[in-house]
Amino acid sequence: MTSPNAPTPRPGILDIAPYVGGEAAGTVRLASNEGALGPSPRAVEAFRRMAGEIHRYPDGGSHALRTAIAARFGLDAERLVCGSGSDELISLLVRAYAGPGDEVLYSQHGFLMYPIAAKSVGATPVTAPESGLKTDVDAMLARVTPRTKLVFVANPNNPTGSYLSAEELARLHAGLPTGTLLVIDAAYAEYVSRNDYSSGQDLVERFENVVMTRTFSKIFALGSLRLGWAYAPPAVVDVLNRVRGPFNVSGAAQAAGVAALEDVEFLERSRAHNETWRTWLSDVLGELGLTVHPSIANFVLVDFSGQAAGKDDAEAARLFLKERGILVRQMQAYGLPRCLRVSIGTEAEMRAVADALKAFLTA
Ligand SMILES: *Cc1c(COP(=O)(O)O)cnc(C)c1O
Repeated sequence: MTSPNAPTPRPGILDIAPYVGGEAAGTVRLASNEGALGPSPRAVEAFRRMAGEIHRYPDGGSHALRTAIAARFGLDAERLVCGSGSDELISLLVRAYAGPGDEVLYSQHGFLMYPIAAKSVGATPVTAPESGLKTDVDAMLARVTPRTKLVFVANPNNPTGSYLSAEELARLHAGLPTGTLLVIDAAYAEYVSRNDYSSGQDLVERFENVVMTRTFSKIFALGSLRLGWAYAPPAVVDVLNRVRGPFNVSGAAQAAGVAALEDVEFLERSRAHNETWRTWLSDVLGELGLTVHPSIANFVLVDFSGQAAGKDDAEAARLFLKERGILVRQMQAYGLPRCLRVSIGTEAEMRAVADALKAFLTA
């Protein structure tokens, strides 16, 4: 793709392996962790109501949305910054705090946006090994150097589904220099029902070097609208507001976000649905002899290693499912070539993927 006559991008850019999203051309779409029940009807209605307003620039400060987020989660609206998906906020944080010669640390099977964001500013991505497919706090701390500008932890992590307890997260933070920014990516926080879990908002309120990012793409199922938010100390809020585009969140996204937050019943139903069907799918696949890694989010990581020859091939399983219109996520890019990630969908979708995997293993 590179041409000798074309302008040359900055160092690092051509080292980026472009992010490949989950496939979308199928009838059962379980490759992108989109909320199983789709969006709240109230969010859809709010989006429709904005149709007559799309010639207007949106509120650049996302005031109504920040007020709604603050009220819903018990936060300070002044510490909120909204973004075009949390991916935008991740990229802006890396751009603002790291550059050539700096390091961006994350765990071995961490979210792929972290190295992409690091390389795009010429910084060096550094990974720490995991133990048992879980972030290892000591291994992370052992890789912190004076050049480590940002540390990313997805909690719960995508694609492993594992998490750090509030206590482990606090220990990770306590081991970092004050000049290193800890970014807690809590994209799946709303799904979690563990009392030793914290989304990290307490750390944001206590320290100047902790940011939490959240999204409307997962349990709120508004991925197409691109809507995320960061909860950050005042100095980081100030930085984000300087580097972001002045109208980075569309008016339709802001309106739908406010309406989605108001639909508390829908959120509870989505959470309960997820618990039920994640447990069901994990049990059924376990009975088929597959290893299903414990997950507290809206997906499970299914491991084919240990299966009979031919049946241990996760890619063959993925293609088998794809032929039947069922899309799940391949994991080669995450260093997990024998695994597939399966999002929790509707009851019919869960039964379909379980039946198809049974057919694959017994064919
Ligand atoms: C899906 C996901 C996000 C990004 O979501 P946006 O759609 O950009 O808000 C961020 N982090 C993790 C770990 C995710 O899985």
